[in-house]
Amino acid sequence: MRPEDCLFCKIARGDVPASLCHSGDEVVAFDDVNPQAPVHVLVIPREHITSLEHARDDHRSLLGALLVVARDVARTRGLAESGYRTVINIGDDGGQSVPHIHVHLLGGRSLSWPPG
Ligand code: AMP
Repeated sequence: MRPEDCLFCKIARGDVPASLCHSGDEVVAFDDVNPQAPVHVLVIPREHITSLEHARDDHRSLLGALLVVARDVARTRGLAESGYRTVINIGDDGGQSVPHIHVHLLGGRSLSWPPG
């Protein structure tokens, strides 16, 4: 998919509205439009990477930045003590529906395990 056609690239560019909670040089975070928990934030790179499977070895630092932003948003939303979950869905079997890598940050309730 071309970045011009990608929903999350459009959100990162500001072409599609979203409730942003982080907007950095490399990483953007925003509330999920269909939240599965009281806190459900998506953390994405500005660069279009289709999925973790498409990430290159030299994306190592950027991939780490996604988790650091997820941690910081979790702290800001008051989840540090209670705990939270980060999830990356990959491909069809992983349940990925938007082909732009994203970390789900979920918290604010007790989350069951294993996932379905
Ligand atoms: P995944 O199924 O892992 O690819 O997750 C995609 C997520 O994107 C889902 O949780 C959707 O609710 C969310 N989503 C889809 N469109 C939007 C949007 N326009 N703004 C915010 N979140 C969205």
